[in-house]
This record gives sequence, structure tokens and C-alpha cells, in this order.
Amino acid sequence: MQLTRPLPITRDLVLLGGGHAHALVLKKWAMAPLPGAQLTLIDPNPKAPYTGMLPGYVAGHYERSDLEIDLVRLARQAGARLIIDRAVGIDTETQRIELQSRPAIAYDTLSIDIGISSMLPALPGAAQHLVPAKPLGAFAEAWSALVARSMDTNTAPKIVILGAGVGGVELALAMAHRLNTLGLPGKITLIEAGADILRETNSGTRRKLRAELARAQIEVRTDAMIAGITEAGVTLDGDDPLVPASFVVSAAGATPHAWLQDTALALEQGYICVDRTLQSTNTPHVFAAGDCAHLTHSPRPKAGVFAVRQAPVLYDNLRADLGGKSLGRFSPQKSYLKLISTGRKSAITDKWGIGLSGSWVWRLKDHIDQKFMQQFQGTMEMPVPNLPDERATGLDQIVDAHANQCGACGAKVDQSTLVQGLSLGKDGTLDDAAIVKLGDQEQVFSTDHLRAFSPDAYMVAKVAAVHALGDIWAMGAAPQAVLAHIILPPLSAEKQAEMLRQITAGAGEMFEACGTNISGGHTSVGAELTIGFSITGRLDRPAITHAGAKPGDVLVLTKPIGTGLLLAAEMRQLADGGDYQAALANMCRPQANASRLLGPQATALTDVTGFGLAGHLFNILDASGVAANLTLNEIPLLSGALDLAQQDVKSTLWPANSAQSSRMTMTASARTDLLFDPQTCGGLLATIPAAAEAEIMGAFQSANEPIWKIGDITPGPPHIFLR
Ligand SMILES: Cc1cc2nc3c(=O)[nH]c(=O)nc-3n(C[C@H](O)[C@H](O)[C@H](O)COP(=O)(O)OP(=O)(O)OC[C@H]3O[C@@H](n4cnc5c(N)ncnc54)[C@H](O)[C@@H]3O)c2cc1C
Repeated sequence: MQLTRPLPITRDLVLLGGGHAHALVLKKWAMAPLPGAQLTLIDPNPKAPYTGMLPGYVAGHYERSDLEIDLVRLARQAGARLIIDRAVGIDTETQRIELQSRPAIAYDTLSIDIGISSMLPALPGAAQHLVPAKPLGAFAEAWSALVARSMDTNTAPKIVILGAGVGGVELALAMAHRLNTLGLPGKITLIEAGADILRETNSGTRRKLRAELARAQIEVRTDAMIAGITEAGVTLDGDDPLVPASFVVSAAGATPHAWLQDTALALEQGYICVDRTLQSTNTPHVFAAGDCAHLTHSPRPKAGVFAVRQAPVLYDNLRADLGGKSLGRFSPQKSYLKLISTGRKSAITDKWGIGLSGSWVWRLKDHIDQKFMQQFQGTMEMPVPNLPDERATGLDQIVDAHANQCGACGAKVDQSTLVQGLSLGKDGTLDDAAIVKLGDQEQVFSTDHLRAFSPDAYMVAKVAAVHALGDIWAMGAAPQAVLAHIILPPLSAEKQAEMLRQITAGAGEMFEACGTNISGGHTSVGAELTIGFSITGRLDRPAITHAGAKPGDVLVLTKPIGTGLLLAAEMRQLADGGDYQAALANMCRPQANASRLLGPQATALTDVTGFGLAGHLFNILDASGVAANLTLNEIPLLSGALDLAQQDVKSTLWPANSAQSSRMTMTASARTDLLFDPQTCGGLLATIPAAAEAEIMGAFQSANEPIWKIGDITPGPPHIFLR
């Protein structure tokens, strides 16, 4: 195999919803991506729960992480752009998906696997008091909160479950088991509108499940018409109106997403009509799978098993659609083996007209579920092209290093190389921005760019904007004029325009929120996406530089550290999806307020970026001729950062940054490793007079801006003492 430039992108495939079918499509795509196609996954959450293990989680047999498919990791493996957002519309004319909180996304081929909800919107009080069993993630969250509350207050909860089908009965048994093992046997009532429960199961299974319900002392009410839900419980029509409850769950409704009604897609009772190829019956290039789809040729009940079975056909057809080839057919099976858990580690089968039961059925179910989940656990080796046989000395090492090169600030040239290459003088210290004099007036001027850390140009642009603004805020200035410099990866002309739209929207939103906008720039095409900005800043008082810190000053920091580590870990499929999303949100938090609040008092100010907290603190200490005490445990860390540091995950720039440890008094540990972690959009690091500490901390609190006191300045040659 030869090393070639990346191939241009000519087609966009968007997977809407991280449901079961799409999770499997992503896994297959990771093994064989289609050259020329950019894959995008859109879901409001970084993790999608697997339905088969939900009752086991409710019963306490599984941890939450056991049933979660990490969409961040899966997207990384598939080389997909992951957009954490909720679709609110689809314009099938212009082929764009409208999102709740960011600009629309274009598609050439679209696949929809967004599930359904078991919310009962028409029921009075439902919006305030009903917890739908679907979406599963929100339900799992609500259940764990109820368990925690019950344990804290040592009270057995009263629970009502609406709908006594398989889902409702399985949940009721799981809940009863969990509450019993906690020593808080609550009162659980199953309410069914029909004359009988478990209508979709065979008589043998039904008999056994009835016996299980009786054993678990779960009350069953049939023919019950629900009038509404209040804080006190569920009100029924009839003589015995109130069933008291503090937790009311709906396992009854199957409500398709309402916004689909506003699209031009053909629907059957709100579900997307698809033909044998899983393509919309009236809109080419749009496919649907799982619960949200209606199989016009062969309607089936809403069950995860169909989403799973559709995945291979869906995968082939999406590729075929992108490549202009003919589509294959999906033939759903007539029936399937249901394994229904009974709370304890036992289960009952539902097939062949009989219900076999016992712990062996649970073990079988557990084996099937664990095997399904194993596909999504652990990391996946990416194929690496071989080097040519004949090559110059040194190429192997550089190629190896480049293969693992981090994006964002982890891709910076290290400080000692800058010192040598730019003849910067011994300590290599430059301030965050250049100070430009215009007559009596002073202005600051800075430039910064980021190598993309993700295929999501909108998000990279946002992060790059905050990152570049950091240098302006770090001088105590307010941003004034902005020029963009953009290198686009290889794309067709149409995709170039689309990516530019995403970039200008992401960066534009951020600059506008910070009081400025992009007035021009320059764009070219290169090997990979790189976004940067040159910004001038207005000063209302003399610029705050690195020089000026005095013994006795207090050292403060305005954001937690660990972004380099989390970005590196995400790239290597080691980060938790939730932690990674939290880190991104933290990166996108502007520092304009923090700069404004620190400006009048700070004696020295910088932003923590590529050289890490220690490196940027040394910039202040070197320029000011002082030393610092750092209180290690007071330094705020991003969620997940310490865990990853303990696993020895490090950003590419870490070894160069850690050379500063020779100037520090410390005992090395995972926590001290984080002091050398390069930061993207890091917080402001300031020294403030001790006398101003209370006032500044108060002002930050009133403005709802986070700030941490992490140490103080002492006399002596530049050195960091850790305590
Ligand atoms: C208690 C219970 C137990 C069950 N047990 C079983 C079982 O044992 N076997 C079985 O086959 N079935 C079972 N089911 C049914 C099963 O849960 C569903 O059939 C299955 O989850 C459907 O999968 P899906 O791929 O259609 O979508 P889902 O798994 O529901 O996933 C939909 C995804 O789309 C995302 N999404 C939603 N709206 C949007 C939007 N607007 N924009 C972007 N993304 C969006 C969601 O965040 C979610 O990640 C059970 C259901 C319940 C309630």
C-alpha cells in the first residue's frame, strides 16, 4: 500500500439518531469506510443505552456503563463527525436536517433511527409527573435518581407503571427486585387499560409471569381508565380514584416523534413509511430503521431485535445509495425468541407457545446481551498504510510520531524548538499578544490557529475562536477586529462551500457573543482542516503582561485543566464520551467576563494553553522574577482527566512541556503530570494582590463565573514549589 493524500469528500451520509441499527452500521463502517463519503452521526446524547440490558440495570445486576454504547468512541472508530444535538426538522427539498442549537446539516443520503417515546402526551399531568420508559437513557437516569433518593431518605417508594405489556411487566419485576435487595420494598402497581395483561405473549409465558408478579407482590389492575397524574399519584375513572405514587412510569404508549409530521416524508400513524429496501416510500436517499420506521411491506411490532436485524441491509443500502448502485431487500422474520427477565437472575422464554424458565434462561439472555455489547467495548486498531520500501533516514520515527499527533494545542511546536528556530532568547518568553502603539494609544494584536481535533468543522471553529480570543483576554483587552485563516481538507466544491458555512457559523456565533465579528480572511486547501484567527484588541488601560507578579500575590485560575489529555484520549478511543463532551463545553466557555473582572486588579495575566499550567506559570515567573507555591489539590481538573493520567495517557506535547519539572520542587504523580498537559481554550491564570482577593472572588461569584485560588507568589528566583 502507498501513502497518498487523503481522498476528497464528495458525498455526505448522515445517520440521524444513535439507535441500535445505526450503532451497528457505524461499527461496520469503521471496518470498511467508503472512500469519498463523509459520515455524520447526530444524537442529543454522547451515549446510547442498549435495551436488552435495561431491566437488568433496573434490577441492579448491571452498572449503567454496562449498557451504554459510547457514541463518541464509536464515531472516532468510524471516522465519523459526531454532532451532539437534536434534529427538529428535515427539509427534503434542500436535503438539510434542522437542529435544535446549531445550523442545519446537509446530506446526500440520510438514515433515520431515532426510536420512539412512551410518553402519553394527551394524559393530563403527564408532562409534569410521568417518566416515559422510552427514551431509555432519560428513564435510566430518573430510575437511578429515585433509588438514590429512596436510600438517602430510607423510604420505600410507591410506584405506578402504566401498561402491562412485556416491557411494563419486566420493568415492574426488575424494580421490585431492586427495592427488595435495598431493604426498601416499595408498593408497585401495574395499571392496564385492557382486560388482560401480557396480551402479546403465549399462554404458558403469561401464566409464569403472572406467578412472578404475585411472588413480587405487584398489584395488577386491568380495565383501568386513567384520568390523569398528579403529585399524589394516578387518578382513575371510577369508585377508587387515586393510586398513590411518587414515581409514575409509562410503558404503554408508542409515540412517534411529533416533528416528523412537519416533514414531507410519507408516514403511517407518525412512523416513517419504508419499502423493502428500508428507503422512504416517497423520498429517495432517505432511509429509516428501528422503532421509528413502518415496514409497509411487512409491518412488525416495535422491538429492538428488528433494528438489529435491519442493520446489515441498511449498511449495504446506504453504501449503494452513495455509490449509485442498486439496493437490497430486508425480509423481517415472522417471530423471534423473547427472553423476559423476572427481576431475579432468572428469565422466561416466549416462543413456540411455551414459556421455559429458570436461571439458565437468564444466563442465556445475559450471554446474548453481553456479546452484543462487546462489539462496542474496547478500542479498535485503525489500518495504517505501509511506508514505501525505499526511504530516507529518520522518516520512520517522524511518521510514527505524526500518526499519533494530537490535534488542537497538542499539535503546537514545543517551546524549546520555538526558542531555537525563532532566536527568542534564553527563556523564549513572549507575551500572549503583541502590543502595538498608535500614537498615544495602545492596542494588542495576536494570531492563533488549531489543527482540527475532530471532523466537526463547526465545533472546531468555535473552539479555535475561543482559543484565539484567549490571547486578547489575557492582555486585559476586548476583541476588536478579526481575520480568519482557514485551510480546508480535500473536498468537492459543493462540500467546500458547506464546510465554510459550518466554520463561519461556529466562529461567527462565538465572536458575535464576544462583541465582534469576522471582517475578512483567507482560505486555501491543504492536507487537513486548520482554522485560525488574527485578532486585534482594544485596551481601556495599559495591557496586563506576564511581568508584574509580586511576592504575596495570590494565584488564581478560571478553568479546570486536562483538555490535552481528554483530546488525546478521545483520539485513541480511551475517553469516556460524557467526559469528552463536558470538556468540549468547557473549552467553548468564553473568558471575556473573567478578563473584565480580573483586569482592574491583576498584576500579571496569561491564558493557559499549549505549554500547560506549569509552562505558562513559568512565563509569569520568568518575566516577573519571582517564585510560586502551587497547592496541587486546589488545582481544578476536568472530569475524567485524573483517571486518564493514572492510565498514563499523555498528549503529544507532554514530554516537551514536562522538561519544566527540572525547575520545580515536586514528587511526580498522575496529578503532577497534569501540570504539563497542553490546554486548548484554557482558563486565565492571574496573580492578584492578596488585599483584592475577597473582592475578586465575590465579583466572580456574583457573575456566576468560576475561579479557583491555586497558590501564591513568593520571593526568589523563578521556581515552582508544589505543596
Ligand atoms: C423496558 C423495555 C424493555 C425492552 N426490552 C426489549 C428486549 O428485550 N428486546 C427487544 O427487542 N426490544 C425491547 N424493547 C424495545 C426496544 O427498546 C426498542 O425497540 C429499541 O430500543 C428500538 O431501537 P431503535 O434503534 O429504534 O431506537 P432507540 O434505541 O430508541 O434509539 C434512538 C436514538 O435516537 C436518538 N434520538 C431521538 N430523537 C432524536 C432526534 N430528534 N435527533 C437525533 N437523535 C435522536 C436517541 O437519543 C437514541 O439514541 C424494550 C423496551 C422497553 C421500554
